[in-house]
Amino acid sequence: MPELPEAEVVAGQIRAALIGARLTDCWVGRKDIVREGFTSRSWYRGAVVQHVQRYGKSVAIRFVKEQAVRYVVAELGMTGLLLFPSAQIRHPQHVHVRMTFSGGRESEVRYWNPRRFGRLSLLDQEGLDQYVARRFGCDPLTVSWEDFYRLLKNRRGRLKPLLMHQQTVAGIGNIYANEILFRVGLHPNARVSRLSSLKTERLYQVTREVLQEAIACGGSSVKDFFAPDGTEGRYKRHHLVYGKEGELCPNRCGQHIRRLKSERSSFYCPLCQRLI
Ligand SMILES: [Zn+2]
Repeated sequence: MPELPEAEVVAGQIRAALIGARLTDCWVGRKDIVREGFTSRSWYRGAVVQHVQRYGKSVAIRFVKEQAVRYVVAELGMTGLLLFPSAQIRHPQHVHVRMTFSGGRESEVRYWNPRRFGRLSLLDQEGLDQYVARRFGCDPLTVSWEDFYRLLKNRRGRLKPLLMHQQTVAGIGNIYANEILFRVGLHPNARVSRLSSLKTERLYQVTREVLQEAIACGGSSVKDFFAPDGTEGRYKRHHLVYGKEGELCPNRCGQHIRRLKSERSSFYCPLCQRLI
């Protein structure tokens, strides 16, 4: 499932290709792929892409027309992708929306989603503000250390589910949570209330480092992620624990990576990530 880095890669490519482009047509093949705002779809014809922003794991394209502003917000979902025509699509019947543009580097953005878990929303500014407020907590790339510390302080429960709780920290899913916790040396089931401020600071820094490195690598292509231009993310090569059950710990401590089957698979080293 695409997480923050993949969503950022998608937003970045659409930004680079389509800022200033005009939407000439919008075809929606399945009404139920649009969660909100279906009746406003005709407004978008003739509107110009002004900005593309990522929120959590969603991508919002900002359109302007006659001083009014509206957004197309895409949840990338389990297998939802935004693709340019140059990307080879294996099952074109799963393209549910086509947005056609003039004046950009790309002529079309397609929303491709075989499992239909992801959704598009057509929102005005107030709708976007509500969408973001309802779903997303702090953004790990922009939150200050003080705010991050305040968020985790006095929390109960286990660390990994908190890190993946979108209303607390937006954008981190199972892959990056595993990678971050290994690099910090924290057990997925560590109690948040027992984290020292030093460990919390390390968690804050490593989270940013891992996410930024992953963005620079074009994200992680696990299962079915492709950027809009069809390229795969290379960060998978840098994964240290995710999907590596039974392999030797990359820290060379002599232990093997284990897998915990809780709500989502956790991969960790029993020696380097002791339960506190
Ligand atoms: Zn180890």
